[in-house]
Amino acid sequence: MFKTLFFVGVMVLVFPAVVLAQSAYQEPAHEGHERHGHAQRTAEAHQHGTGYLNIVIDKDKMLIEIIAPGADIVGFEHAPHSDPDRQAVQHAKKQFRNTAVMFQFPAAAGCQANFSDVDFEIGGQKHDHDDGIGAGHGEFHAVYEVHCKKITALEAIKVGYFKLFPAAKQLVARIVGALLQTRSVLTEKAPVIRF
Ligand SMILES: [Zn+2]
Repeated sequence: MFKTLFFVGVMVLVFPAVVLAQSAYQEPAHEGHERHGHAQRTAEAHQHGTGYLNIVIDKDKMLIEIIAPGADIVGFEHAPHSDPDRQAVQHAKKQFRNTAVMFQFPAAAGCQANFSDVDFEIGGQKHDHDDGIGAGHGEFHAVYEVHCKKITALEAIKVGYFKLFPAAKQLVARIVGALLQTRSVLTEKAPVIRF
């Protein structure tokens, strides 16, 4: 948890240009009620179908954070209050821990991904379309640390997120490094981040 907050803090410090670009970016329209207009704890809009993958590169190390709406991962965003809910959250966390499927690196880069932390965080905000039940909106936050023997050989990362979570539609990937700042939108058909 502390790590996640620290990471978000770092992202806010290093990301102003990306955040500005983000606000000008038009997300594709989704059917139904996926769009939520309320305030965010992180800089981006919570929108069902859209997760975020943030990468901060520091020399031979990367910190990767994935933020995903509960709707995409377990199909609900309230605090788990039944055994099936709890089992769904536990299963999802196990999926997030599966670094071998989540990230594939070019062999030449010699990267090792270590799972660090995953939380299902229930926000206090209500959806605009709430029916009064008081459902919050929960997001999964997962953090990984990646070490690479030869980070200059890291040309791409293939992300297994859509295999692990078939309900997810897109993942907005943002990279920040000393010489690099990019943003791309990953999908099931295009799950590769290029450097
Ligand atoms: Zn929501």
